Amino acid sequence: MRAEIICVGSELLLGDITDTNTQYLAQRLSAMGIDLYYSTSVGDNLGRLVECLRRAFERSDVILTSGGLGPTDDDLTREGISALVGETPAVDETLAVELRKFFEARRIEMTENNLKQAWLIPSARAITNTRGTAPGWWVSRGGRHIIAMPGPPGELHNMWEAEIEPRLRDSASVIRSRTLKLFNISESRVDVLLKSLTSAANPTVAMYAKQDGIHVRITAKAEHLEAALRAIEPVEVETRRLLGDCVWGVDEDTQESVTAALVASRGLTLAVGEAITCGQVAAMLGSAGGSDAWFQGAVVLSGSERYSRDALGVAQRAADQFHADVGLGVCGWPLLGAEAGIDELLIAVVQSGSGFSRTASFRSRHHAVRTLGAYYALHELRSALRLAKVSDPDGEQGRGHKAT
Ligand code: AMP
Ligand code: MG
Repeated sequence: MRAEIICVGSELLLGDITDTNTQYLAQRLSAMGIDLYYSTSVGDNLGRLVECLRRAFERSDVILTSGGLGPTDDDLTREGISALVGETPAVDETLAVELRKFFEARRIEMTENNLKQAWLIPSARAITNTRGTAPGWWVSRGGRHIIAMPGPPGELHNMWEAEIEPRLRDSASVIRSRTLKLFNISESRVDVLLKSLTSAANPTVAMYAKQDGIHVRITAKAEHLEAALRAIEPVEVETRRLLGDCVWGVDEDTQESVTAALVASRGLTLAVGEAITCGQVAAMLGSAGGSDAWFQGAVVLSGSERYSRDALGVAQRAADQFHADVGLGVCGWPLLGAEAGIDELLIAVVQSGSGFSRTASFRSRHHAVRTLGAYYALHELRSALRLAKVSDPDGEQGRGHKAT
């Protein structure tokens, strides 16, 4: 986490006062292990203040401002932050009530310009100031924070220690995630299998249904990266044990990148024949890095051949036509009657010359069949490639396999 300090006030630039707030904050930050990379002083000038804020917002995670929260026209920190985030400040009624109480308790008349200290913008949360009239602002955006504090050192110290440091310490901890990606398993089934893990608080285990399958995200929060990774590891091992072989990838993996890596690692060449998926499988495999070395070509069947059940024949034809070691055939058939809207997918993998072939059938919603069908095809190809390798040395290939 990178921090930056901006002190606002022309008196600092005129040499009228010594900037003790920066020294204080710098000491507190370094004690917390937060890196302070920049510290700026800027006068009471809106244009220059916004310029400083903008630069800080581009390069730092936490921007701490001091000063400029007074009630007068030259206190411009609220205006500057509002301009930066493009929001308009308005009087917050709860803060206005607090402010009036503050003045009443001291029997001082509150003037209208004081209401500026009850301003908020939608992105800002007020930070309690027990020592003065100006609450701070805590603005969070895209994981970055702008924290505005009043200039008087007593107020700033108090607000920092009571309200800001504890929360910052919380968010200063490292959050690390590991995502396991699954296919051909339902979200509800995953939920049942992972019941023992999903109720834990740290690491958390959560699942998300995505187009390429279910993602299971393990998230750990810890003081530093190694501790977070250490916390994730046993949970990942247990998650994998519970889920079995439906896990196809992790983190940034895509089905095409994982499948492509598997084909390449087997030293095989591949050709695709696809009917119902209209070339989607070829487009995915063809776009995977390094596929030029093994992807021999694809036939896309349309017209009267669009709906076919002969996945094995289509796979074999593609392999023959492109002289590839492996042929992948993807066919499909729209179901009728009560099952209308569902397509039956037929996928075949053949390994030329080895006698190895494997067919499987899946079902997919008709409107999603191009994408989902392509994912089923890649899933089946991966399963076949794993099997093909295991059975290679003993010539055990040729065993047909039917999955549903
Ligand atoms: P302001 O928030 O601009 O109203 O600040 C009010 C007063 O806080 C100033 O007049 C100074 O006395 C004090 N002050 C502001 N900035 C600093 C600073 N960086 N270091 C020490 N005192 C400050
Ligand atoms: Mg000032």
